[in-house]
Amino acid sequence: MDTAQIIVTLGGIALIAFTLWFFFGKKSTNQPSSSKSALYACPMHPWITSSDPTADCSICGMKLVQADEVGK
Ligand SMILES: [Zn+2]
Repeated sequence: MDTAQIIVTLGGIALIAFTLWFFFGKKSTNQPSSSKSALYACPMHPWITSSDPTADCSICGMKLVQADEVGK
């Protein structure tokens, strides 16, 4: 009983740790390169973003432009 609970608890902790590592590790390694590789955003709706350069804004349907050009 207790052993099973410990295993489940440790499994849950390991899963959470792995998830955190996966997301934070992925972000920290991607950020330097992905800050240059463009994130695309709608000029009218900058919160609509995509990494797909062919994507359209889901609100107005405009073609997304590089996010760097939207903000500055
Ligand atoms: Zn839009």
